[in-house]
Amino acid sequence: MRTWALILTGLFVHIILFYSIFDIYFTSPLVHGMTPHVSNQSPPAKRLVLFVADGLRADKFFEFDSDGKSRAPYLRTVIEKTGAWGVSHTRVPTESRPGHVAMIAGFYEDVSAVAKGWKENPVEFDSVFNESRRTWSWGSPDILPMFAKGASGDHVLTDQYPSELEDFADSDSSKLDTWVFDRVRTLFNKASSDKTLTKQLHQDKIVFFFHLLGIDTNGHSHKPQSSEYTENIRLVDKGIKEMTELIEMYYNKDGKTAYLMTADHGMTNWGSHGAGHPHETLTPLVAWGAGVRQPKTRQELLEQDLYSKEWNLDHLMRSDVEQADIAPLMACLIGIPYPVNSVGTLPLDYLDVDDQQKSRSLFANAKQILSQFQIKMEQRKQTTLSMTFRPYSELTPALQTKMIRSINKLNQEGKFIAAIKESKKLIQLALQGLSYYQTYDRFFLGVSIASSFVGWVMYILVLVVKEHTDVVKVRVKLVTLHQPVLLRKEVIIGGYSTVGALVIILLSVQSLPWTYYLYCLLPVALWMVVTLNWHVLLDCYTRLKEASPKGFLVNFFLTLVMFVLGLEILVAGFFYRHLLSVGLVCMGMLPLLSSSHHTDWVIYVRWMMSCLILAIFPMMPVVGRDTNYYLVGIAGILAVSTGVLAIQRLKNSTSSHHSYSTNHIQIVLTALSVYVVQFTAYSIQRKQGLPLVSQIFSWLILGISMVIPIFSGTGVLHRLLTITLAYLPLYILLSISHEGLFVLTLCYLLYFWLHLEGTSGQHTGQAEQLHSVDFVSSLPIEGKQQRHLELQDFRRAFYFIFLMLTGFFGTGNIASINSFEPASVYCFMTVFSPFTMGTLMMLKNIIPLVLVTCTFRAIHITTHVPIRALFLLVLAMSDIMALNFFFLVRDYGSWLEIGTSISHYVIVMCMIIFLMLLFGLSHWLTTFSLVSRKSHRN
Ligand SMILES: [Zn+2]
Ligand SMILES: [Zn+2]
Repeated sequence: MRTWALILTGLFVHIILFYSIFDIYFTSPLVHGMTPHVSNQSPPAKRLVLFVADGLRADKFFEFDSDGKSRAPYLRTVIEKTGAWGVSHTRVPTESRPGHVAMIAGFYEDVSAVAKGWKENPVEFDSVFNESRRTWSWGSPDILPMFAKGASGDHVLTDQYPSELEDFADSDSSKLDTWVFDRVRTLFNKASSDKTLTKQLHQDKIVFFFHLLGIDTNGHSHKPQSSEYTENIRLVDKGIKEMTELIEMYYNKDGKTAYLMTADHGMTNWGSHGAGHPHETLTPLVAWGAGVRQPKTRQELLEQDLYSKEWNLDHLMRSDVEQADIAPLMACLIGIPYPVNSVGTLPLDYLDVDDQQKSRSLFANAKQILSQFQIKMEQRKQTTLSMTFRPYSELTPALQTKMIRSINKLNQEGKFIAAIKESKKLIQLALQGLSYYQTYDRFFLGVSIASSFVGWVMYILVLVVKEHTDVVKVRVKLVTLHQPVLLRKEVIIGGYSTVGALVIILLSVQSLPWTYYLYCLLPVALWMVVTLNWHVLLDCYTRLKEASPKGFLVNFFLTLVMFVLGLEILVAGFFYRHLLSVGLVCMGMLPLLSSSHHTDWVIYVRWMMSCLILAIFPMMPVVGRDTNYYLVGIAGILAVSTGVLAIQRLKNSTSSHHSYSTNHIQIVLTALSVYVVQFTAYSIQRKQGLPLVSQIFSWLILGISMVIPIFSGTGVLHRLLTITLAYLPLYILLSISHEGLFVLTLCYLLYFWLHLEGTSGQHTGQAEQLHSVDFVSSLPIEGKQQRHLELQDFRRAFYFIFLMLTGFFGTGNIASINSFEPASVYCFMTVFSPFTMGTLMMLKNIIPLVLVTCTFRAIHITTHVPIRALFLLVLAMSDIMALNFFFLVRDYGSWLEIGTSISHYVIVMCMIIFLMLLFGLSHWLTTFSLVSRKSHRN
């Protein structure tokens, strides 16, 4: 197969394999067509007031301030004297949108919403606001529109400030909240002269929604420990007090208003949210007014309630809820239907109604969840062949009828407590059944995709064996003579086509989405190609058997096990960085095992030392928040002295008259960049900002390092030195801690790797003397000088992948690479600009990879390995890793865990595309030269 055709096929296959995770793991859980169930026939409240303090975390709200008093004195009185309280446990992602959807619509938005963008409504959904007669809402333009847009008609009214008001750099964001409170005052003032408004305000089943964004914005810009954050809590508390008084006065204290105060998510100590830390998932819930119970003294609990103790609230009963339970609670208080997509369970603990009403409300809640389950089951049934359909056995239609009948009977007999128990059981079963049908196709699709992966890897290996080894050539004619009927080309194609046709028929009968056809036909096509090449596999087998009759199997399997183990270490290295250290130590020891009298001990010891030193870095904490410019300085000094030494050695060892003036300039630039980093750090520490000189120098270095390699000769050692010296100053400018030392050690290791491969190849006659190798003139000509693959080349390809991943994860993990730490770009800019900052951070991560790829290229040239063969091996290995990550993708757990599992898969899947780019870049970096050929040739 031609290389470009192979690349295109590979791209196509990988796009399908990549996209499949969205169909398998991240599909919307919502169903449509349920009939609404009314929660409460005689609701205790006519209207509901919902305050959402965006980004308010539980402990900052409940705990006492340093003066021993509450930061929210009004709500504290409510908790102690008139209302119910607890912690609302949010789910991840702890972001504003899913948080609000959970509270107001009662379901947990899934990750597919992320893929379709947070801003738009990815799917239509019902909400408490939509079920209300009328809702007035005030707040941020990021939140309000999604509930107004999804609602039928125009009974959800929004009043939002312009988005310019949400300024992170603002000294105090509490004005966002003041804005909301002012607008509400205006509305009630207007009501005295506006008759229609007065009429609307006196209707029942109405909602007032206050979205208060100030605390979140202050938390992001000043962190939750700041006085801005805590002062904002005070301000919100005061505002809620005033609003309550205003509303009570307007309705003449008719006792028909229910109040709720909660938050959409919390916030970490460093001012972020999204993940699953308790600081992010624990939010306060306070309810008071009509229909809400009075405070209860705490009953003796077996478990010690640590939180309440910390908050000085352990004398009161705490009623915790899941965030989605707030939606049915609100619906029940004002007697509107439960939102149809809600999966929340009515928290009876908060209600001040009799057992009969509690039981009937919960029963309606159960029926509402059950109807989702029934529709979901119906949908599955329609898209599955009836004979293969496996219904959820815990909640069969017969059981449903039986349970509903028994709850009805218990209610009629007045056994409400028993009825409540039975309703709770029904809710639990229906929820389990919902998730059963949600993940119904997962197994079958997973098998399909996994067999595609295996088929693709087999295909690549067949290609490698066929084109880059001498295994096949000898026997190929012989085989065609004795071809069994079953393995004839026509039979194979015919057989697989039949399977393909059957798959198409089966899928179309079940009317499944078109992507399913791709997932199911891909393995068929891949395995057909592999089967067509059965003689290659046969030859491999015979060849290996003939090679060494004794001990062959042992040897073969040992190598195989080593390989699989190595790849698994790499996979695990994504999660546990220190495993990379284990791999590095093994790499350092490996030449010792395979040592012969040819081994150059000096180089070997250096290689081992560099492996061992590099192994230290993955065990250190990730480079992140803490800065240590002292270490950056040491790295810079080491870089300068090594550079001087390297130039000296290169001068002595080659008899040529290369010009080293470029390298001398580079050394000066490296030294200067160390100074600039120190100077900038000092200046920023003293709050004097980024000096203009530093900034100009930094951007100049960035520009220079891009082009400087082409001003040197193309001798392998000289060019590699120039490339390294070109990127070191840039990397130092972007360093904040020990990562400079890491890259320097990596450079040493790469240098010794090149030597090691050079000497290991020499005695077999593969490699040339390193000093005479040139990136351009030594390039093997396609097909002519290229040799067949050896076992050594598999190791080389593996080392390459290993070093690439070490370069990527050596000083960081996925979270630290994703997270934005502006400190490392301070030499370039201090004003927040996500795009430029992101690009610079990306550049920092790519520099080690470029160095590894350039060295790999040098090795490919010195050892005359065909680059295409190496590329195919790398491809096969990364696909085996990708298969691992495919199974590790998860749709539960914290937002960080979900995100990490997806990004692992994305990283490995993109590695192939990225590698092609890197190979191209390294080709340009190593071969293009502005220095005339004559002057640098020996
Ligand atoms: Zn928020
Ligand atoms: Zn936020």
